[in-house]
Amino acid sequence: MRALQLTDPGVLEIREVPVPEIGPSDLLIRVGAAGICHSDLHLLHFPVKMREEPLTLGHEIAGTIEAVGSEVDGRHAGERGIIYLCWSCGVCRECVSGNENVCMAAGRTAMPPCPGLGPDGGMAEYVRVPARSFVPIGDLDFQQAAPMADAALTSYHAIRGAMEHLRPGSTAVVIGIGGLGHVAVQILRAVSATRVVAVDVGAAQLDLAKRCGAEIALESGPATSRQILDLTEGRGADAVFDFVGIDATARMSVESVAPNGTYRMVGLGGGVPGVTAEPAGGPGWPWGASVRKSYGGTRSDLIDSIALARSGRLTVEVDPFDLADARTALDRLEAGQIRGRAVLLP
Ligand code: NAD
Ligand code: ZN
Repeated sequence: MRALQLTDPGVLEIREVPVPEIGPSDLLIRVGAAGICHSDLHLLHFPVKMREEPLTLGHEIAGTIEAVGSEVDGRHAGERGIIYLCWSCGVCRECVSGNENVCMAAGRTAMPPCPGLGPDGGMAEYVRVPARSFVPIGDLDFQQAAPMADAALTSYHAIRGAMEHLRPGSTAVVIGIGGLGHVAVQILRAVSATRVVAVDVGAAQLDLAKRCGAEIALESGPATSRQILDLTEGRGADAVFDFVGIDATARMSVESVAPNGTYRMVGLGGGVPGVTAEPAGGPGWPWGASVRKSYGGTRSDLIDSIALARSGRLTVEVDPFDLADARTALDRLEAGQIRGRAVLLP
């Protein structure tokens, strides 16, 4: 089968590899679509080898069950679904509380194993997954379904945890209207009455934000936090969701969050509030403001995201590519030329 593999830091190749063998508690999935996340670009630029053998990328996987391990109950060939990306232990204190995204087995600051980041991922014709990770999608289209596995899961998780800040009359800022951000704008509209202010560097992205339901779209720059303060009578935004996570957006967030408001940091651009912006709790922070570093989401967040998509309240703007054109798709993502989410079709 064909697979998109990272063979060395910065080196991607489409390689012919064997179809994976499955163990007793696994499923073999025939991939229908695999989303490309900006994290795949971070991985591509990661300076050290992720593991000794080549690694198949892809953590947003939708497909059909091809084969079922001998000890798996309740699953059968032909079922359609997506793969929950937190391959957590399932038995630690956090997992049994439903917080599998912060599984204790992974360690205090690490994340649980994730396809395409340690185990082989879904940018291939087939992928081996633990049966527990399979989540049915009904008749949802594969291209719509794949981005649920991360773009929607992660956005939904960040928003659900901030619901107390999203009362009627509140303002939520979404920074970075890419794969995650354009989904986040729609989720905010679907689950709350908050006013959504979108921020991006690109005009096309701001246009997409408007179509997704943002009331106001602002170009990102040094004056953005002042504009947000002006829009909120000087108070600031009740919640700021940062899907970029660089120094500039961390600073913007601290400068524009309201007293008792919250800053949810999702983007992995390397900006760290408290180091690059203003010490968390320092004099630049309004009283009562909080910051949360948000990873992935829970299994229940994934089920809710799928329900939003199936009800028509969440539609991913999809840019499809053949698996063979993965390099072009990644280059376009890096150049800011993808609208919404690029997905690969094997
Ligand atoms: P993307 O490339 O699709 O979107 C990023 C958007 O940010 C683009 O629209 C771009 O124009 C915009 N942007 C860039 N610089 C900006 C700036 N200075 N101000 C405002 N907007 C700016 O990326 P994505 O796939 O949506 O991922 C976003 C980030 O979230 C990445 O860093 C990714 O690694 C990270 N991520 C984190 C998690 C998590 O669990 N924490 C999960 C998935 C992705
Ligand atoms: Zn991701």
